[in-house]
Amino acid sequence: MITIDKFNFAGKKAFVRVDFNVPLDDKFNITDDTRIRAAMPTLKKILADGGSPIIASHLGRPKGVDPEFSLKHILAHVSKLLGVDVQFANDCVGKEAGAKAAALQPGEALLLENLRYHAEEEGKPRGLAKDAPEDVVAAAKKEMKAKQKDFAKELASYANVYVNDAFGTAHRAHASTAIIADSFDADHKMFGYLMQKEIDAVEKIMKDPARPFTAIIGGAKVSSKIDIIENLLGKVDNLIIGGGMAFTFEKANGGKIGNSLCEDDKLDVAKEIMAKAKEKGVKLVIASDAKVGDSFSNDAKSQFCNANAIPDGYMGLDIGPKGEKEFTDVIMASKTILWNGPVGVFEFDNFSQGSKVIAKAIADSTKNGAFSLVGGGDSVACVNKFGYADKVSYVSTGGGALLEFIEGKVLPGIKAIRGY
Ligand code: AMP
Repeated sequence: MITIDKFNFAGKKAFVRVDFNVPLDDKFNITDDTRIRAAMPTLKKILADGGSPIIASHLGRPKGVDPEFSLKHILAHVSKLLGVDVQFANDCVGKEAGAKAAALQPGEALLLENLRYHAEEEGKPRGLAKDAPEDVVAAAKKEMKAKQKDFAKELASYANVYVNDAFGTAHRAHASTAIIADSFDADHKMFGYLMQKEIDAVEKIMKDPARPFTAIIGGAKVSSKIDIIENLLGKVDNLIIGGGMAFTFEKANGGKIGNSLCEDDKLDVAKEIMAKAKEKGVKLVIASDAKVGDSFSNDAKSQFCNANAIPDGYMGLDIGPKGEKEFTDVIMASKTILWNGPVGVFEFDNFSQGSKVIAKAIADSTKNGAFSLVGGGDSVACVNKFGYADKVSYVSTGGGALLEFIEGKVLPGIKAIRGY
C-alpha cells in the first residue's frame, strides 16, 4: 500500500473524498469549519506537488437536488483556506463535471456538487412507496446497485489517483467512499493524512496499548454502547461507566435509582457485562455518588446522594464528588485512555462538573505521558467546551465511524484501500 507522503502528485489529478459535511446557519454561514480544516494538509500536499485535487463530499441528507444542501455555500471558504480559487461543478457527474475535471491544470482545484444529490452515492433507491411489494423493492435495489457502480466509475474517470480523507464516512460502503476504489490499482489509491492519523490513533490504542488502559464510556444509553463495551472488555484494564447508562447498571445491582434514565430491557445485558468484566479481570468503575435533580433541567432542585440510593422524584444527572475522585484516580494511573460519552448532562452548566473534571484528568494524565484518544460526538463537544481539545493526544473527527472502528468492525472505506 502506498502512503500519501511518498506519492508525488505532479501532473496528476486526484479524486479526493473529504468530509465537508459542516454545520451551516440559516444564512448558510459555516458555524464550525473543523472538518474542512482537517482535510487541508491532504489538499495542500497535492497542490504543492503540482497536482490537481478534484474534491468531493456530501453535505447533509438531501433526497435529491436541493439548493439548501449545495456545496456552493462552502466554496468561498474552501478557496480561502486552500489559498487558490477553487472551481465548482454544478453536478458531481455529467458533462460539466467531466469537462471541468479534464481541463484542470496542475495547481488548480475543483469542488464537485453534493454527491448525495444522487441516490447512487448511498446506493439506496429513493421514492419507493412504503408498502411497495417485496419483489419491487428487491428489483429496485438490484437496479440501484448496478447504477451505483456506473456512478462510481464516472467519478473515478476524472482522476489518475484516488485519495480517501473522509474518516467520518469510512463506515459506509458508498460509491465515493469505497466502490470507486475498485477503479484504481494498489499504487493509485491511498488514505489522506487525516484518515491515516485516525487509523493510526485507533490502532495504537486497540492493538498495542501501553498499560494500564482505561476506557471511559458515558452517554445516555447502554443500548448504543453494548458492542463497544463488549469489544473493549477484551482489551482494557479499567472500564469506567458514566452518564445516564450507569443507572441501568445500578438498578441491575439492586440499587434505587429514582427517575434516572434506565433501560429495563437491558438489565440482563448490564449483568452480563459485569460478569464478563469480572471473568476477564477488568476493573469496572461506576461512580458511588451522583448529583441528582428533581427534573431534567439545568434549574432542577439538586442534591448529592449515593448512586444506589436516589430519592423518589429525583434523577441522576451527573456524578458527585466521590465519583469525580474515583474516576480521576483511575485516569491518572493510566497510560492509555479512551473517552467516549459524557459522564453527565454536560449541556446543563449545573450538571457539567463531572464531565469537566474527567476532561481535566485526561489532560493531566496526558501531560504525565499517557496517550489519550477522545472521540464520538459528545465527548468531543465536552473537550471543546471545557478548553481541553489541545491537551489530549488525539481528538477524532469521526462519530459513527470511530465507534464502529472501536467495536472492532472492518470499515468499508478502509478496506477498499488496504484490503482489511
Ligand atoms: P451519547 O450520544 O449516547 O454519547 O449520549 C450523550 C448524551 O448523554 C448527552 O447529551 C448527555 O446529556 C446525555 N447524558 C449524560 N448523562 C446523562 C444522565 N445522567 N441522564 C440523562 N442523559 C445523560
